[in-house]
Amino acid sequence: MVGSGPNGLAAALTLARAGLAVQVLEGAQTPGGGCRTEELTLPGFRHDACSAVHPLVAASPFFSGINLAAGGVKLLTPEVAFAHPLDGGRAAAVAGSVADTARGLGADSGAYRRLLEPLVRDADRILPAFLGPLRSVPAHPWPAARFGLKGLQPASWLARRFATDPARAILAGLSAHASLPLDQPLTGAYGLMFAIVAHTVGWPVVEGGSGRLAEALVADLAALGGQVVTGRWVSRLEDLPPARVTLLDITPRQFIDLAGGRLPPRYVRALRRFGYGPGICKVDWALDGPVPWTATAARQAGTVHLGGTFAEIARCEADVAAGRHPDRPFCILAQPGVVDPSRAPARKHTLWGYCHVPAGSTVDMTDRIEAQIERFAPGFRDLVLARSTRTAADVERYNPNDVGGSLGGGSGTLRQMLFRPVIRWNQYRTALPGVYLCSSSTPPGGGVHGMCGSWAARTALDDLAAGRRP
Ligand SMILES: Cc1cc2nc3c(=O)[nH]c(=O)nc-3n(C[C@H](O)[C@H](O)[C@H](O)COP(=O)(O)OP(=O)(O)OC[C@H]3O[C@@H](n4cnc5c(N)ncnc54)[C@H](O)[C@@H]3O)c2cc1C
Repeated sequence: MVGSGPNGLAAALTLARAGLAVQVLEGAQTPGGGCRTEELTLPGFRHDACSAVHPLVAASPFFSGINLAAGGVKLLTPEVAFAHPLDGGRAAAVAGSVADTARGLGADSGAYRRLLEPLVRDADRILPAFLGPLRSVPAHPWPAARFGLKGLQPASWLARRFATDPARAILAGLSAHASLPLDQPLTGAYGLMFAIVAHTVGWPVVEGGSGRLAEALVADLAALGGQVVTGRWVSRLEDLPPARVTLLDITPRQFIDLAGGRLPPRYVRALRRFGYGPGICKVDWALDGPVPWTATAARQAGTVHLGGTFAEIARCEADVAAGRHPDRPFCILAQPGVVDPSRAPARKHTLWGYCHVPAGSTVDMTDRIEAQIERFAPGFRDLVLARSTRTAADVERYNPNDVGGSLGGGSGTLRQMLFRPVIRWNQYRTALPGVYLCSSSTPPGGGVHGMCGSWAARTALDDLAAGRRP
């Protein structure tokens, strides 16, 4: 295995459970890839360097097969999954059931229930289809089709169901996780999927930080005799020790380099067409207290979406897609201290946040992000004890899988969700026999769920069993 992100570790564990001897080579000094927790600002303040909020862990069939509690991992679920402050001290919030949330949406209460109730009712039939390789026929085609018919629509179409700013803002904030302009197909699916998980498993954080997840997977692997070697960048496939199968937790661009001319030109051209989407500028803060949000719901929420109305957020995402840095960016913030006091010394807090920027950007967006926070939480800047900023270029330096500072292993356009990373029946196999891709550049895509690794390892095991490998 090359790479120990959540998908690399999920693949390694799946292979080790099948009885294979597994070695994982990781370039960074610590395992975990997008699941690492570090003191980025001051001693005693534990910040999630990448992923922070874990609805996909809670919904993932791979993680449901891991005894997380035995590994010391506790998911803490804030009562308010996320809040979306608006000017004038108001905030929309998603908390509890669809009916609970709808009650706070006034004139849009009925429209919210009509959109989400049928989907949430069928969540356990829809989510497995979303977390599988999309080529397979879903086990429950009707619920999946119902989801697909709504989700294929751009968020801008779905928003027409709502008359009020709060309901439209909820949809904008959820759909903007797609890192695509909100008039693109499939942005609705991101919005709906994140709403479904908010109403079923919630949006938890990991007690002590996301790094605990990686530590638990590494410990499980070690218990099965597997090994993770850190500080070992692999620059050519030839440098790897001999193995019956090789799985790569890397993206297509890195694979081309690693293969060093061994790939057929047509396959290389297909890999080169794979797109990565915009980058992010990320800021972590050490705070002297909780963020002083004007709206009460935002004080209780684990995640906060900032950016105002649907129209404002749509403009931001369109700007980024056109290569511009928005003056008032759409920001996603996580405040783990709402449920996890262990992240900071007594009465202090950490805050995690990012905004989208053009790929590869070196622009520091700290001032613009803080201005957005001040807009809804006056006095915020007075609480800042220290901050650590990573531009999109820094994000890629920290982890080469985050190409251009992007965070999903490749953009989530319709084409790239269906054919990820290239048009093939089984997208984990590569043009090299016995070599597989298992990163979030394969289905089902970005996020901490381990399903890319789990499906890739199952393909490798099937091939070994069928004797397909020479
Ligand atoms: C800032 C940020 C915030 C995020 N927030 C969330 C969130 O809140 N919730 C969520 O679900 N997801 C979030 N994500 C996305 C999530 O972290 C990723 O989708 C996930 O980590 C992908 O897992 P992976 O195993 O495919 O790759 P990665 O986690 O990127 O791991 C790849 C690993 O491979 C190693 N590697 C690469 N090349 C080589 C090489 N040549 N030799 C040796 N090692 C190599 C890297 O060092 C890295 O450790 C976020 C991502 C970022 C960057």
